[in-house]
Amino acid sequence: MTSVELSHVTKTYGAAAPSVDDLSLTIEDGEFFTLLGPSGCGKSTTLRMVAGFVAPTSGTIRFGERDVTSAPPYKRDTGMVFQSYALFPHMDVAENVGYGLRMRKVATAERRTRVDEALAVVGLAGYGERRIDQLSGGQQQRVALARALVVQPSVLLLDEPLSNLDAKLRDETRSQIREIQRKAGTTSVYVTHDQAEAMAMSDRIAVMNGGVLHQLGEPREVYRRPATAFVARFIGRSNVLPGVVEGRDGGTAAVRLTDGSLLHTPVAVDGGAGDVAVGDEIALSVRSEAVELLGPAPAAADRAEGTIHARLAMVEFTGSSCMLGLDLLDGADDEAAGQADRRILITIPDTDDLPRTGDVVALRPDPARIWMVAR
Ligand code: ADP
Ligand code: MG
Repeated sequence: MTSVELSHVTKTYGAAAPSVDDLSLTIEDGEFFTLLGPSGCGKSTTLRMVAGFVAPTSGTIRFGERDVTSAPPYKRDTGMVFQSYALFPHMDVAENVGYGLRMRKVATAERRTRVDEALAVVGLAGYGERRIDQLSGGQQQRVALARALVVQPSVLLLDEPLSNLDAKLRDETRSQIREIQRKAGTTSVYVTHDQAEAMAMSDRIAVMNGGVLHQLGEPREVYRRPATAFVARFIGRSNVLPGVVEGRDGGTAAVRLTDGSLLHTPVAVDGGAGDVAVGDEIALSVRSEAVELLGPAPAAADRAEGTIHARLAMVEFTGSSCMLGLDLLDGADDEAAGQADRRILITIPDTDDLPRTGDVVALRPDPARIWMVAR
């Protein structure tokens, strides 16, 4: 077991922009740590640098006190699980799981014991003699996990291990992986583009975009207090509404949105948009479930502070709830309707008396859950 420290790690391929750009972070001993971001943001490249399959262009990687930046993969003591399982089809389950032990010249009897233990850990006791093609996708992925765990690696690396499973199996398997990791206490780095998966599994999440670290924090922190507009949009369903700071009062700011409405929001000095001054152009992140639907809007002149008027454009029924898409009004030009920064999405419990498409309604974002980000 060990901590993993990346210090100013950059990876550049040829003349392209860096795939990973000056990344510094420390993964604690025993932590389940997730690299999260859209496809192409540099997650796999980062993981491969930790594994030793890819050499950083600059920067250092340490396992505990040990500098492993130029150590080959087999001297790093990592176990890796891939999206594609990468099992050997001509070997049975036990041979697959025991492969790493055989390479390490572990004696047959001990190997057998450890393989049985690893299979028990992943819930596949008694499956040793099965052929790989007799197993379901979820079982194959657990074999791959057992194969990585059996060598008792200091660091477990998982690159989108659930992507090939269907939705239900994915949810089950993610709970199992997390439970197994918790018991083993192995420092783990998990890569996914799925924000729900990251939130459900991780001790901490590093959100990346374009090779750059946008935020590092616990799931709740990243969800409630996104550091950038990118994080706000990528995690959960957030509205990012541009506005201008019109007043400051202690820990709050009054922000005028483009539609003329005035919202009061807490000012975050250590994160989000940081401290702000009157006149600053910022954006407000408002979660779709943090907006209340008040009902038909009064005349524009009677708009209450802290409320927004918007026209209902679409309704999506999702079972327990409804998602409404509304367009902010600004009187002057309605042509911009549907435009990204005028569309506001809200999620409300399903009800029989929803407004109709075209109706103008008043909305009230919960002031305690508005979060300011840089534009
Ligand atoms: P992710 O895993 O987040 O989807 P990757 O780390 O695979 O992203 O890729 C990050 C960027 O680096 C992408 O633009 C990708 O095209 C580029 N890249 C990755 N591997 C190589 C390589 N071997 N040669 C050139 N470019 C690469
Ligand atoms: Mg990848």
